[in-house]
Amino acid sequence: MAPAKSSEISQGDDASAGDFLADAYHRLRQVPSRNNERRVLPLPAVLASAISALPQAGDPDFLAARGAEGTLSHLLDDIVPALNSQSLSGRYYGFVTGGALPIAEAADNIVSALDQNVQVHIPGHSASTAVEDAALTMLITLLDLGKATDWPRRTFTTGATASNIMGLACGREAVIARRLPEGSGETVAKAGLLAASQAAGIKEIQILTSSAHSSLSKAASIVGLGHRAVKELPASPEEPWRLDLDAVEVMLAREGVASIIAASAGEINTGRFATNVLDMPKLRSLADRYGAWIHVDGAFGIFARALPKADEFLHLHGNVAGLELADSITADGHKLLNVPYDTGIFFCRNASIPNQVFMNPNAAYLSAPAVAGNTTIQSPLNIGIENSRRFRALPVYAVLLSEGRDGMAAMFIRMVTLARRIAQFIRDSEQYEWLPSEDASLESTFIIVLFKAKNPALNEELVARINETRRIFVSGTIWNGEKAARIAVSSWRVDVDRDLEFVKELLSSVAAGASES
Ligand SMILES: *Cc1c(COP(=O)(O)O)cnc(C)c1O
Repeated sequence: MAPAKSSEISQGDDASAGDFLADAYHRLRQVPSRNNERRVLPLPAVLASAISALPQAGDPDFLAARGAEGTLSHLLDDIVPALNSQSLSGRYYGFVTGGALPIAEAADNIVSALDQNVQVHIPGHSASTAVEDAALTMLITLLDLGKATDWPRRTFTTGATASNIMGLACGREAVIARRLPEGSGETVAKAGLLAASQAAGIKEIQILTSSAHSSLSKAASIVGLGHRAVKELPASPEEPWRLDLDAVEVMLAREGVASIIAASAGEINTGRFATNVLDMPKLRSLADRYGAWIHVDGAFGIFARALPKADEFLHLHGNVAGLELADSITADGHKLLNVPYDTGIFFCRNASIPNQVFMNPNAAYLSAPAVAGNTTIQSPLNIGIENSRRFRALPVYAVLLSEGRDGMAAMFIRMVTLARRIAQFIRDSEQYEWLPSEDASLESTFIIVLFKAKNPALNEELVARINETRRIFVSGTIWNGEKAARIAVSSWRVDVDRDLEFVKELLSSVAAGASES
Protein backbone atom coordinates (compact mmCIF):
# COMPACT_ATOMS: atom_id res chain seq x y z
CA MET A 1 0.00 0.00 0.00
CA ALA A 2 1.31 3.42 -0.93
CA PRO A 3 1.97 5.55 2.14
CA ALA A 4 -0.61 8.26 2.80
CA LYS A 5 0.10 11.48 1.02
CA SER A 6 -0.19 14.61 3.07
CA SER A 7 -3.19 15.77 1.06
CA GLU A 8 -4.96 12.49 1.90
CA ILE A 9 -4.22 12.79 5.60
CA SER A 10 -5.91 16.12 5.82
CA GLN A 11 -8.83 15.61 3.48
CA GLY A 12 -11.87 16.23 5.58
CA ASP A 13 -9.99 15.19 8.71
CA ASP A 14 -8.56 18.05 10.68
CA ALA A 15 -7.90 15.84 13.67
CA SER A 16 -5.46 13.56 11.89
CA ALA A 17 -3.76 16.53 10.20
CA GLY A 18 -3.34 18.04 13.66
CA ASP A 19 -1.97 14.78 15.05
CA PHE A 20 0.46 14.54 12.20
CA LEU A 21 1.74 18.08 12.85
CA ALA A 22 1.98 17.58 16.61
CA ASP A 23 3.97 14.41 16.03
CA ALA A 24 6.20 16.16 13.50
CA TYR A 25 7.01 18.93 15.95
CA HIS A 26 7.55 16.50 18.79
CA ARG A 27 9.97 14.48 16.69
CA LEU A 28 11.78 17.61 15.52
CA ARG A 29 12.47 18.37 19.17
CA GLN A 30 13.78 14.83 19.68
CA VAL A 31 16.38 15.05 16.93
CA PRO A 32 19.54 14.50 18.93
CA SER A 33 20.92 17.99 18.90
CA ARG A 34 24.39 17.44 17.60
CA ASN A 35 25.16 21.04 18.35
CA ASN A 36 23.98 21.15 21.92
CA GLU A 37 26.43 23.76 23.07
CA ARG A 38 29.12 21.92 21.19
CA ARG A 39 28.85 22.11 17.46
CA VAL A 40 27.39 24.92 15.39
CA LEU A 41 28.13 23.33 12.01
CA PRO A 42 27.24 19.82 10.82
CA LEU A 43 30.08 17.35 10.31
CA PRO A 44 31.24 16.84 6.70
CA ALA A 45 29.98 13.25 6.68
CA VAL A 46 26.52 14.34 7.77
CA LEU A 47 26.45 16.99 5.07
CA ALA A 48 27.57 14.49 2.46
CA SER A 49 24.95 11.97 3.46
CA ALA A 50 22.19 14.59 3.27
CA ILE A 51 23.28 15.57 -0.22
CA SER A 52 23.39 11.96 -1.34
CA ALA A 53 19.88 11.39 0.05
CA LEU A 54 18.38 14.05 -2.22
CA PRO A 55 16.22 12.77 -5.11
CA GLN A 56 18.17 12.44 -8.34
CA ALA A 57 16.52 13.40 -11.62
CA GLY A 58 16.73 10.30 -13.81
CA ASP A 59 16.18 7.82 -10.96
CA PRO A 60 13.21 5.55 -11.80
CA ASP A 61 11.36 6.65 -8.66
CA PHE A 62 12.07 10.34 -9.11
CA LEU A 63 8.87 12.19 -8.12
CA ALA A 64 7.18 9.00 -6.93
CA ALA A 65 5.11 9.81 -3.81
CA ARG A 66 6.90 8.92 -0.59
CA GLY A 67 3.93 9.84 1.56
CA ALA A 68 3.82 12.24 4.46
CA GLU A 69 5.34 9.82 7.00
CA GLY A 70 8.17 8.76 4.72
CA THR A 71 8.89 12.36 3.83
CA LEU A 72 8.84 13.48 7.44
CA SER A 73 11.38 10.81 8.38
CA HIS A 74 13.59 11.90 5.49
CA LEU A 75 13.39 15.54 6.61
CA LEU A 76 14.15 14.71 10.24
CA ASP A 77 16.77 12.03 9.66
CA ASP A 78 18.61 13.31 6.60
CA ILE A 79 18.05 17.05 6.19
CA VAL A 80 17.74 18.49 9.71
CA PRO A 81 21.06 17.08 10.98
CA ALA A 82 22.78 18.68 7.98
CA LEU A 83 21.62 22.21 8.78
CA ASN A 84 23.70 24.64 10.79
CA SER A 85 22.77 25.78 14.29
CA GLN A 86 22.50 29.49 13.68
CA SER A 87 19.26 29.54 15.62
CA LEU A 88 19.99 26.73 18.06
CA SER A 89 23.27 28.07 19.40
CA GLY A 90 24.23 31.43 20.84
CA ARG A 91 27.71 30.93 19.41
CA TYR A 92 27.02 31.16 15.73
CA TYR A 93 28.71 34.49 14.97
CA GLY A 94 28.55 34.59 11.18
CA PHE A 95 27.05 37.45 9.14
CA VAL A 96 24.36 38.97 11.40
CA THR A 97 21.68 36.32 11.66
CA GLY A 98 19.89 36.51 14.99
CA GLY A 99 18.02 33.44 16.14
CA ALA A 100 14.36 32.85 16.87
CA LEU A 101 12.99 33.48 20.35
CA PRO A 102 10.67 30.65 21.39
CA ILE A 103 7.65 32.96 21.39
CA ALA A 104 8.59 34.07 17.87
CA GLU A 105 8.88 30.47 16.72
CA ALA A 106 5.48 29.68 18.23
CA ALA A 107 3.95 32.71 16.50
CA ASP A 108 5.61 31.73 13.24
CA ASN A 109 4.02 28.30 13.46
CA ILE A 110 0.66 29.97 13.94
CA VAL A 111 1.38 32.04 10.84
CA SER A 112 1.98 28.85 8.84
CA ALA A 113 -0.98 27.06 10.36
CA LEU A 114 -3.45 29.84 9.54
CA ASP A 115 -1.69 30.94 6.34
CA GLN A 116 -3.28 34.38 6.12
CA ASN A 117 -2.75 36.46 3.03
CA VAL A 118 -2.06 39.93 4.38
CA GLN A 119 -2.39 42.13 1.31
CA VAL A 120 -5.72 44.00 1.47
CA HIS A 121 -6.94 45.77 4.57
CA ILE A 122 -10.50 44.48 5.05
CA PRO A 123 -11.31 44.92 8.74
CA GLY A 124 -14.37 42.69 8.60
CA HIS A 125 -12.37 39.87 7.09
CA SER A 126 -9.30 39.35 9.30
CA ALA A 127 -7.53 41.14 12.15
CA SER A 128 -4.18 40.54 10.47
CA THR A 129 -3.69 44.05 9.06
CA ALA A 130 -4.57 45.57 12.43
CA VAL A 131 -2.04 43.29 14.17
CA GLU A 132 0.58 44.25 11.59
CA ASP A 133 -0.06 47.90 12.27
CA ALA A 134 0.04 47.36 16.03
CA ALA A 135 3.44 45.68 15.70
CA LEU A 136 4.77 48.54 13.57
CA THR A 137 3.52 51.09 16.10
CA MET A 138 5.24 49.16 18.91
CA LEU A 139 8.47 49.21 16.91
CA ILE A 140 8.25 52.96 16.35
CA THR A 141 7.98 53.36 20.11
CA LEU A 142 10.75 50.85 20.90
CA LEU A 143 13.07 52.67 18.49
CA ASP A 144 12.03 56.06 19.83
CA LEU A 145 11.15 57.34 16.37
CA GLY A 146 8.31 59.59 17.49
CA LYS A 147 4.62 58.95 16.96
CA ALA A 148 3.10 56.43 14.59
CA THR A 149 1.59 59.36 12.68
CA ASP A 150 5.14 60.60 11.98
CA TRP A 151 5.57 57.45 9.85
CA PRO A 152 2.26 57.24 7.99
CA ARG A 153 3.59 54.62 5.58
CA ARG A 154 5.06 51.61 7.33
CA THR A 155 5.15 47.98 6.42
CA PHE A 156 6.82 44.62 6.88
CA THR A 157 9.08 43.46 4.06
CA THR A 158 11.02 40.28 3.35
CA GLY A 159 14.20 41.80 4.76
CA ALA A 160 16.53 44.78 4.74
CA THR A 161 17.34 44.32 1.06
CA ALA A 162 13.68 44.72 0.15
CA SER A 163 13.44 47.70 2.50
CA ASN A 164 16.47 49.30 0.82
CA ILE A 165 14.86 48.73 -2.59
CA MET A 166 11.77 50.50 -1.27
CA GLY A 167 13.84 53.35 0.16
CA LEU A 168 15.59 53.96 -3.15
CA ALA A 169 12.36 53.57 -5.12
CA CYS A 170 10.66 56.18 -2.92
CA GLY A 171 13.72 58.44 -3.00
CA ARG A 172 13.89 58.25 -6.78
CA GLU A 173 10.18 59.07 -7.08
CA ALA A 174 10.45 62.04 -4.71
CA VAL A 175 13.67 63.68 -5.96
CA ILE A 176 12.43 63.60 -9.55
CA ALA A 177 8.95 64.84 -8.60
CA ARG A 178 10.51 67.89 -6.94
CA ARG A 179 12.09 68.92 -10.24
CA LEU A 180 9.18 68.29 -12.56
CA PRO A 181 7.47 71.37 -14.03
CA GLU A 182 4.73 72.64 -11.73
CA GLY A 183 1.36 71.14 -12.51
CA SER A 184 2.71 68.55 -14.95
CA GLY A 185 0.89 65.84 -13.01
CA GLU A 186 3.64 63.48 -14.13
CA THR A 187 5.19 60.82 -11.87
CA VAL A 188 7.98 58.30 -12.25
CA ALA A 189 5.41 55.62 -11.47
CA LYS A 190 3.39 56.57 -14.55
CA ALA A 191 5.99 57.88 -16.99
CA GLY A 192 8.93 55.71 -16.00
CA LEU A 193 12.39 56.79 -14.93
CA LEU A 194 13.65 57.91 -18.34
CA ALA A 195 10.71 60.06 -19.41
CA ALA A 196 10.26 61.58 -15.96
CA SER A 197 13.97 62.43 -15.64
CA GLN A 198 13.92 64.03 -19.06
CA ALA A 199 10.85 66.09 -18.22
CA ALA A 200 12.55 67.16 -14.98
CA GLY A 201 15.84 68.07 -16.68
CA ILE A 202 17.72 65.49 -14.61
CA LYS A 203 20.76 63.91 -16.21
CA GLU A 204 21.89 61.77 -13.29
CA ILE A 205 20.63 60.40 -9.99
CA GLN A 206 23.28 59.70 -7.37
CA ILE A 207 23.21 57.88 -4.06
CA LEU A 208 25.58 59.44 -1.53
CA THR A 209 26.77 57.07 1.17
CA SER A 210 29.67 55.66 3.19
CA SER A 211 30.51 51.97 3.66
CA ALA A 212 27.12 51.02 2.28
CA HIS A 213 25.91 47.46 2.61
CA SER A 214 26.20 45.55 -0.66
CA SER A 215 22.42 45.36 -0.89
CA LEU A 216 22.32 49.11 -1.55
CA SER A 217 24.10 48.62 -4.88
CA LYS A 218 21.80 45.74 -5.68
CA ALA A 219 18.82 47.97 -4.86
CA ALA A 220 20.30 50.71 -7.06
CA SER A 221 20.39 48.27 -9.96
CA ILE A 222 16.85 47.06 -9.38
CA VAL A 223 15.36 50.57 -9.32
CA GLY A 224 17.18 51.52 -12.50
CA LEU A 225 19.84 53.80 -11.04
CA GLY A 226 22.76 51.40 -11.41
CA HIS A 227 25.69 50.36 -9.23
CA ARG A 228 27.75 53.37 -10.28
CA ALA A 229 25.10 55.71 -8.87
CA VAL A 230 26.31 54.65 -5.41
CA LYS A 231 29.02 57.16 -4.45
CA GLU A 232 31.20 56.41 -1.45
CA LEU A 233 32.07 59.57 0.50
CA PRO A 234 34.14 58.36 3.46
CA ALA A 235 35.17 60.90 6.08
CA SER A 236 38.73 59.50 6.15
CA PRO A 237 40.70 56.32 5.36
CA GLU A 238 40.71 55.57 9.11
CA GLU A 239 36.95 55.96 9.45
CA PRO A 240 35.54 54.94 6.08
CA TRP A 241 32.13 54.24 7.63
CA ARG A 242 31.64 57.92 8.52
CA LEU A 243 29.92 60.09 5.95
CA ASP A 244 31.88 63.18 4.86
CA LEU A 245 29.26 65.92 5.12
CA ASP A 246 31.36 68.49 3.26
CA ALA A 247 31.72 66.08 0.35
CA VAL A 248 27.98 65.43 0.50
CA GLU A 249 27.30 69.14 0.13
CA VAL A 250 29.64 69.47 -2.86
CA MET A 251 27.94 66.53 -4.55
CA LEU A 252 24.43 67.79 -3.79
CA ALA A 253 25.24 71.05 -5.57
CA ARG A 254 26.02 69.35 -8.90
CA GLU A 255 23.95 70.83 -11.72
CA GLY A 256 21.23 68.62 -13.19
CA VAL A 257 21.89 65.88 -10.65
CA ALA A 258 19.29 64.62 -8.16
CA SER A 259 20.40 62.88 -4.97
CA ILE A 260 19.48 60.28 -2.41
CA ILE A 261 21.57 60.27 0.77
CA ALA A 262 21.89 56.76 2.23
CA ALA A 263 23.21 56.70 5.79
CA SER A 264 24.65 53.38 6.98
CA ALA A 265 23.47 53.01 10.55
CA GLY A 266 25.59 49.99 11.26
CA GLU A 267 28.47 49.09 8.93
CA ILE A 268 28.61 45.37 8.38
CA ASN A 269 32.35 44.76 9.05
CA THR A 270 32.88 46.97 12.06
CA GLY A 271 29.38 47.75 13.32
CA ARG A 272 30.30 51.47 13.28
CA PHE A 273 27.95 54.24 12.18
CA ALA A 274 27.88 56.82 9.36
CA THR A 275 26.72 59.69 11.47
CA ASN A 276 27.26 61.22 14.86
CA VAL A 277 25.05 63.30 17.06
CA LEU A 278 25.35 66.58 15.12
CA ASP A 279 25.37 65.05 11.65
CA MET A 280 21.75 64.14 11.06
CA PRO A 281 20.35 67.66 11.60
CA LYS A 282 23.02 68.96 9.19
CA LEU A 283 22.18 66.29 6.63
CA ARG A 284 18.50 67.10 6.99
CA SER A 285 19.00 70.77 6.23
CA LEU A 286 21.30 69.96 3.30
CA ALA A 287 18.73 67.53 1.92
CA ASP A 288 15.96 70.10 2.25
CA ARG A 289 18.05 72.77 0.56
CA TYR A 290 18.89 70.56 -2.42
CA GLY A 291 15.68 68.52 -2.69
CA ALA A 292 17.40 65.26 -1.72
CA TRP A 293 15.91 62.23 0.05
CA ILE A 294 17.50 60.68 3.14
CA HIS A 295 17.31 56.93 3.55
CA VAL A 296 18.78 55.20 6.61
CA ASP A 297 19.91 51.59 6.36
CA GLY A 298 19.58 50.63 10.00
CA ALA A 299 19.17 46.88 9.42
CA PHE A 300 20.80 45.96 12.73
CA GLY A 301 22.29 49.25 13.95
CA ILE A 302 19.06 51.09 14.55
CA PHE A 303 18.35 48.78 17.48
CA ALA A 304 21.04 50.67 19.41
CA ARG A 305 18.23 53.17 19.98
CA ALA A 306 16.51 50.60 22.18
CA LEU A 307 19.47 50.45 24.61
CA PRO A 308 19.04 52.28 27.91
CA LYS A 309 20.51 55.78 28.06
CA ALA A 310 23.18 54.62 30.51
CA ASP A 311 26.77 55.92 30.42
CA GLU A 312 28.13 52.84 28.73
CA PHE A 313 25.73 53.27 25.80
CA LEU A 314 25.91 57.04 25.34
CA HIS A 315 28.51 56.71 22.60
CA LEU A 316 26.13 54.47 20.63
CA HIS A 317 23.19 56.76 21.34
CA GLY A 318 25.23 59.57 19.78
CA ASN A 319 25.69 57.43 16.68
CA VAL A 320 21.99 56.79 16.23
CA ALA A 321 20.78 60.22 17.35
CA GLY A 322 18.73 62.02 14.73
CA LEU A 323 17.95 59.01 12.57
CA GLU A 324 14.31 59.98 13.01
CA LEU A 325 15.04 62.90 10.67
CA ALA A 326 15.28 60.52 7.71
CA ASP A 327 12.64 60.25 4.99
CA SER A 328 12.77 56.48 5.04
CA ILE A 329 14.28 53.82 7.29
CA THR A 330 15.25 50.16 6.87
CA ALA A 331 15.32 47.78 9.83
CA ASP A 332 15.62 44.01 9.96
CA GLY A 333 13.40 41.78 12.06
CA HIS A 334 15.23 38.54 11.41
CA LYS A 335 18.50 39.86 12.84
CA LEU A 336 18.48 41.55 16.25
CA LEU A 337 14.77 41.17 16.93
CA ASN A 338 15.28 37.42 16.82
CA VAL A 339 12.23 36.51 14.75
CA PRO A 340 12.47 33.89 11.99
CA TYR A 341 13.15 34.73 8.33
CA ASP A 342 11.88 36.55 6.29
CA THR A 343 11.13 39.75 8.16
CA GLY A 344 12.23 43.27 7.39
CA ILE A 345 10.71 46.64 8.22
CA PHE A 346 10.26 49.83 6.22
CA PHE A 347 9.21 53.20 7.61
CA CYS A 348 8.45 56.24 5.47
CA ARG A 349 7.67 59.75 6.61
CA ASN A 350 6.02 60.73 3.33
CA ALA A 351 2.35 59.81 3.11
CA SER A 352 1.94 59.93 -0.66
CA ILE A 353 5.17 58.74 -2.28
CA PRO A 354 4.94 55.02 -1.29
CA ASN A 355 1.36 54.82 -2.59
CA GLN A 356 2.49 56.44 -5.82
CA VAL A 357 5.34 53.96 -6.28
CA PHE A 358 3.72 50.75 -5.06
CA MET A 359 0.06 51.23 -6.04
CA ASN A 360 -1.33 48.05 -7.49
CA PRO A 361 -3.47 49.76 -10.09
CA ASN A 362 -6.69 48.69 -11.76
CA ALA A 363 -7.49 45.57 -9.76
CA ALA A 364 -11.08 46.08 -8.66
CA TYR A 365 -11.18 42.72 -6.91
CA LEU A 366 -8.30 43.77 -4.63
CA SER A 367 -9.64 47.14 -3.57
CA ALA A 368 -10.35 47.65 0.10
CA PRO A 369 -13.87 48.62 1.04
CA ALA A 370 -14.32 52.16 2.31
CA VAL A 371 -14.18 51.98 6.09
CA ALA A 372 -15.59 54.48 8.49
CA GLY A 373 -13.27 55.53 11.26
CA ASN A 374 -9.82 54.04 11.04
CA THR A 375 -8.48 54.84 7.61
CA THR A 376 -4.85 55.01 8.64
CA ILE A 377 -4.15 51.36 7.92
CA GLN A 378 -3.10 51.01 4.32
CA SER A 379 -3.65 47.91 2.26
CA PRO A 380 -0.13 46.45 2.29
CA LEU A 381 -0.23 45.69 -1.44
CA ASN A 382 -0.41 49.41 -2.22
CA ILE A 383 2.58 50.46 -0.12
CA GLY A 384 5.02 47.59 -0.60
CA ILE A 385 6.63 45.30 -3.15
CA GLU A 386 4.47 42.21 -2.83
CA ASN A 387 0.83 41.50 -3.40
CA SER A 388 0.24 38.19 -1.59
CA ARG A 389 2.15 38.34 1.66
CA ARG A 390 2.88 36.20 4.67
CA PHE A 391 1.59 37.34 8.08
CA ARG A 392 5.17 38.03 9.07
CA ALA A 393 4.09 40.68 11.53
CA LEU A 394 2.87 38.13 14.05
CA PRO A 395 6.27 36.92 15.37
CA VAL A 396 7.41 40.54 15.77
CA TYR A 397 4.18 41.37 17.56
CA ALA A 398 4.64 38.35 19.82
CA VAL A 399 8.26 39.17 20.68
CA LEU A 400 7.51 42.79 21.54
CA LEU A 401 4.50 41.82 23.61
CA SER A 402 6.36 39.06 25.41
CA GLU A 403 9.59 40.93 26.17
CA GLY A 404 8.39 44.49 26.43
CA ARG A 405 10.77 47.43 26.27
CA ASP A 406 12.84 46.17 29.21
CA GLY A 407 13.16 42.63 27.93
CA MET A 408 14.27 43.85 24.51
CA ALA A 409 16.82 46.18 26.11
CA ALA A 410 18.13 43.36 28.30
CA MET A 411 18.61 41.14 25.25
CA PHE A 412 20.47 43.87 23.33
CA ILE A 413 22.62 44.63 26.39
CA ARG A 414 23.72 40.99 26.54
CA MET A 415 24.76 41.13 22.88
CA VAL A 416 26.67 44.41 23.26
CA THR A 417 28.33 43.31 26.50
CA LEU A 418 29.61 40.07 25.03
CA ALA A 419 30.87 41.86 21.91
CA ARG A 420 32.75 44.39 24.05
CA ARG A 421 34.29 41.73 26.30
CA ILE A 422 35.47 39.80 23.24
CA ALA A 423 36.84 43.03 21.75
CA GLN A 424 38.71 43.70 24.98
CA PHE A 425 40.18 40.21 25.03
CA ILE A 426 41.33 40.56 21.43
CA ARG A 427 42.74 44.03 21.99
CA ASP A 428 44.78 42.83 24.97
CA SER A 429 45.93 39.56 23.45
CA GLU A 430 49.41 38.86 22.08
CA GLN A 431 48.13 36.91 19.11
CA TYR A 432 45.31 38.99 17.76
CA GLU A 433 44.73 42.55 16.65
CA TRP A 434 41.48 44.40 17.18
CA LEU A 435 40.33 46.21 14.04
CA PRO A 436 39.84 48.84 12.78
CA SER A 437 42.01 50.37 15.52
CA GLU A 438 43.29 49.17 18.88
CA ASP A 439 43.04 52.76 20.14
CA ALA A 440 39.28 52.85 19.74
CA SER A 441 37.16 52.97 22.85
CA LEU A 442 35.33 49.79 23.71
CA GLU A 443 32.19 51.89 23.91
CA SER A 444 32.27 52.38 20.16
CA THR A 445 31.55 48.64 19.85
CA PHE A 446 27.98 47.60 19.19
CA ILE A 447 27.55 43.90 18.33
CA ILE A 448 30.37 43.24 15.85
CA VAL A 449 34.05 42.55 16.58
CA LEU A 450 36.48 42.73 13.66
CA PHE A 451 39.93 41.27 14.15
CA LYS A 452 42.90 39.54 12.59
CA ALA A 453 45.79 37.37 13.70
CA LYS A 454 49.13 39.12 14.14
CA ASN A 455 50.94 36.16 12.62
CA PRO A 456 50.43 36.61 8.84
CA ALA A 457 50.48 32.86 8.13
CA LEU A 458 47.80 32.23 10.73
CA ASN A 459 45.79 35.19 9.48
CA GLU A 460 45.66 33.70 5.98
CA GLU A 461 43.85 30.67 7.42
CA LEU A 462 42.28 32.19 10.49
CA VAL A 463 38.62 31.98 9.52
CA ALA A 464 39.03 28.41 8.24
CA ARG A 465 40.88 27.37 11.43
CA ILE A 466 38.21 28.82 13.67
CA ASN A 467 35.31 27.37 11.69
CA GLU A 468 37.00 23.99 11.38
CA THR A 469 36.43 23.56 15.12
CA ARG A 470 32.69 23.73 14.32
CA ARG A 471 32.22 25.10 17.82
CA ILE A 472 31.81 28.70 16.80
CA PHE A 473 31.25 30.12 13.34
CA VAL A 474 32.68 33.46 12.20
CA SER A 475 32.59 35.16 8.80
CA GLY A 476 35.64 36.25 6.91
CA THR A 477 36.02 39.61 5.28
CA ILE A 478 38.67 41.93 3.87
CA TRP A 479 39.72 45.01 5.81
CA ASN A 480 42.30 47.45 4.40
CA GLY A 481 43.24 44.87 1.81
CA GLU A 482 43.92 42.15 4.39
CA LYS A 483 41.94 39.16 5.50
CA ALA A 484 40.01 39.63 8.72
CA ALA A 485 37.44 37.78 10.80
CA ARG A 486 34.14 39.06 12.15
CA ILE A 487 32.29 37.97 15.25
CA ALA A 488 28.70 39.24 15.15
CA VAL A 489 26.73 38.66 18.34
CA SER A 490 23.03 38.64 17.55
CA SER A 491 21.31 35.71 19.23
CA TRP A 492 18.89 35.91 22.15
CA ARG A 493 20.75 32.87 23.53
CA VAL A 494 23.86 34.86 24.47
CA ASP A 495 25.17 34.10 27.94
CA VAL A 496 27.92 36.65 28.46
CA ASP A 497 30.19 34.86 30.95
CA ARG A 498 29.81 31.39 29.53
CA ASP A 499 30.27 32.47 25.93
CA LEU A 500 33.18 34.78 26.68
CA GLU A 501 35.15 31.96 28.31
CA PHE A 502 34.34 29.70 25.40
CA VAL A 503 35.47 32.20 22.76
CA LYS A 504 38.64 33.10 24.68
CA GLU A 505 39.64 29.48 25.02
CA LEU A 506 38.86 28.69 21.43
CA LEU A 507 40.75 31.67 20.00
CA SER A 508 43.71 30.96 22.28
CA SER A 509 43.88 27.34 21.21
CA VAL A 510 43.57 28.24 17.53
CA ALA A 511 46.52 30.60 17.96
CA ALA A 512 48.50 28.02 19.98
CA GLY A 513 47.83 25.34 17.37
CA ALA A 514 49.24 27.63 14.74
CA SER A 515 52.40 28.37 16.67
CA GLU A 516 53.10 24.66 17.17
CA SER A 517 52.78 23.78 13.51
C1 LIG B 1 21.87 42.33 6.59
C2 LIG B 1 21.89 43.72 6.07
C3 LIG B 1 21.24 44.05 4.88
C4 LIG B 1 20.55 43.02 4.04
O1 LIG B 1 19.52 42.50 4.77
P1 LIG B 1 18.71 41.19 4.39
O2 LIG B 1 17.81 41.07 5.54
O3 LIG B 1 19.73 40.11 4.28
O4 LIG B 1 18.02 41.46 3.10
C5 LIG B 1 21.25 45.37 4.49
N1 LIG B 1 21.89 46.30 5.21
C6 LIG B 1 22.56 46.01 6.33
C7 LIG B 1 23.26 47.09 7.08
C8 LIG B 1 22.58 44.71 6.81
O5 LIG B 1 23.22 44.42 7.95
